[in-house]
Amino acid sequence: MQLEGKVALITGAASGIGKRIAEVYAKNGAAIAIADLNLAGAQATAKEITDAGGKAIGVAMNVTDEAEVDDGVAEVIKQLGKVDILISNAGIQIVKPIEEFSLAEWKKMLAIHLDGAFLTTRACIKDMYRRGDGGAVIYMGSVHSHEASKLKAPYCAAKHGLLGLARVLAKEGGPKGVRANVICPGFVRTPLVEKQIPEQAREFGISEDEVIRTIMLKDTVDAKFTTVDDVANLALFLAAFETNALTGQSITVSHGWHMQ
Ligand code: NAD
Repeated sequence: MQLEGKVALITGAASGIGKRIAEVYAKNGAAIAIADLNLAGAQATAKEITDAGGKAIGVAMNVTDEAEVDDGVAEVIKQLGKVDILISNAGIQIVKPIEEFSLAEWKKMLAIHLDGAFLTTRACIKDMYRRGDGGAVIYMGSVHSHEASKLKAPYCAAKHGLLGLARVLAKEGGPKGVRANVICPGFVRTPLVEKQIPEQAREFGISEDEVIRTIMLKDTVDAKFTTVDDVANLALFLAAFETNALTGQSITVSHGWHMQ
């Protein structure tokens, strides 16, 4: 019960990595706000957690919408009392060569990954600073916060950008006990990645099996996917860490694909 008495707001937690973090945090005693574009999915995840004996609510939130983020965070504070931990995790992927990206697609990617991280951070740290009990902000970066891959220009640009936001928050929040770190996973078989396998096969003119073997797992030490549990366990470690000794960092969980 490493998070007893804590409240965690997790964006994009109706699915994939965010959902598993919500489950692991709830098992460790935290009350969870599942903030997602997909309200039905958020409510379904919240129900699974409460049915298992935990505490969770679903909140409708498009992380790119300033008013929805501010209102959503206010609602979480009204219902759960505070926000101790923010996991900025909502994300999507669009894969294509740079010359084929429309400006609208580029902006959409940056809005979800970067505007979303900024808006949720701003809303949550106001509560953390006001209460004076500190807090933890965790950004879901990626190996693509450090590495590049073909077809992923806006994703790589946005994920690299999260490092800058986290480092500034580490400096500004440090004196107030608010830590900021970035988790950088390798490929995890969530809906976001399942969708990419046929898309990359088409773009590169190779089979889906080749996408997995020659692109996704090529540089890992053991040809294995990272799992939602791997990422959730790291997220638990970071949220439960008690001092500012661990802040402003990015930690990669990728079967050795990227080594810092
Ligand atoms: P997923 O598709 O399973 O889940 C993403 C969730 O985000 C969904 O519930 C979706 O409804 C929500 N979402 C999308 N747009 C939103 C918006 N505008 N506002 C609020 N919610 C929104 O994907 P996942 O693989 O679990 O990805 C979660 C995060 O992990 C993303 O930031 C992704 O970039 C990152 N990541 C994933 C992998 C991977 O291999 N799956 C690797 C590295 C990083």
